[in-house]
Amino acid sequence: KDHCSRSEPPELRQSFLVTVAYNKDESPIKLNLGVGAYRTEEGKPLVLDVVRRAEQLLVNDQSRVKEYLPITGLADFNKLSAKLIFGSDSQAIQENRVTTVQCLSGTGSLRVGAEFLAKHYHQRTIYIPRPTWGNHPKVFTIAGLSVEYYRYYEPTTRGLDFQGLLEDLSSAPSGAIVLLHACAHNPTGVDPTLEQWEQIRQLMRSKGLLPFFDSAYQGFASGSLDADAQPVRMFVADGGECLAAQSYAKNMGLYGERVGALSIVCKTADVASRVESQLKLVIRPMYSNPPIHGPSIVATILKDRDMYNEWTIELKAMADRIISMRQQLFDALSARGTPGDWSHIIKQIGMFTFTGLNTEQVAFMTKEYHIYMTSDGRISMAGLSSKTVPHLADAIHAAVT
Ligand code: PLP
Repeated sequence: KDHCSRSEPPELRQSFLVTVAYNKDESPIKLNLGVGAYRTEEGKPLVLDVVRRAEQLLVNDQSRVKEYLPITGLADFNKLSAKLIFGSDSQAIQENRVTTVQCLSGTGSLRVGAEFLAKHYHQRTIYIPRPTWGNHPKVFTIAGLSVEYYRYYEPTTRGLDFQGLLEDLSSAPSGAIVLLHACAHNPTGVDPTLEQWEQIRQLMRSKGLLPFFDSAYQGFASGSLDADAQPVRMFVADGGECLAAQSYAKNMGLYGERVGALSIVCKTADVASRVESQLKLVIRPMYSNPPIHGPSIVATILKDRDMYNEWTIELKAMADRIISMRQQLFDALSARGTPGDWSHIIKQIGMFTFTGLNTEQVAFMTKEYHIYMTSDGRISMAGLSSKTVPHLADAIHAAVT
């Protein structure tokens, strides 16, 4: 029940397999738009200056040791991560109703949350959007939850199927868990508006559905950390329960450091402290305790006002480059008179554009133009540059005419 059909060649379903095929191609014009990582205008991976600075401070501090962290991770990192997503003035944090544990990036945070829910929550069904990030169904199923889908994307409008979403959540059993992409939905780049979020919130609260936010792109969508966290904060502000999985892979470029956090917002401080004890019992047999380097970088940046500001500037620059790639690709298609409405390229949000190109068109572009992407037609805007936009626009034009 993945969002891709079963008849597709498996090598094109997942982005890392697309990269394997790309690496084998010897053409000088080859282009990899399958990668889920930011690239500079020169096509290179980026380590943020502020991350380099934080690492230098850590290296120079001779008092630092490599002892094990507690099961729940670095305490400072956990506090700062909760503030980052829920807001520094969050009432839930002030009332000690939030428990946060450091986990292995976004994936690990989702997995720990799912294991906890499978063990302790009364409803073991989780609703995930169709389509969604390919790893979601696997993470939740392996953890012991039963996966159902809610309608999300409408191919004819290349936008949100809001009516379908509301209908499917309305018919979900009371108490069911609902996975929500906090912003920059992967793979569609389609997010609800704030008004739509408010309707989703009201419906979910009235039915007692449990929100589980996947926040893998905070700050990366709009360039603002606060704006991208708004949907999560709307749910937390009503005093209800909520889970949130955070990743620092994209917004701090810490992909391989595997830094993330799982927060569970509870109704009382007492429940939050009991939830924390249970989370320890989930984590201990999985990996004992998390790594120390990545969260130390994050904590160093988040607790220093100058470094935090420097981070927001670098983050905005990444988001702005992606937004500019959207505009350039849209303009290039308009200039070619490519048939069809391509306005979704500039309307969609985040790292990916769900082009609407079908499997055959994708295969054509790979064969004839050496352009690599997942077979669902998703392209990474972060993998594009001003230099490669014309090549992509030529390929799309040829594929649809
Ligand atoms: N959730 C979504 C929607 C994603 O797109 C990703 C990464 O691509 C993740 C979670 C997890 O990423 P990571 O485990 O690298 O933080």
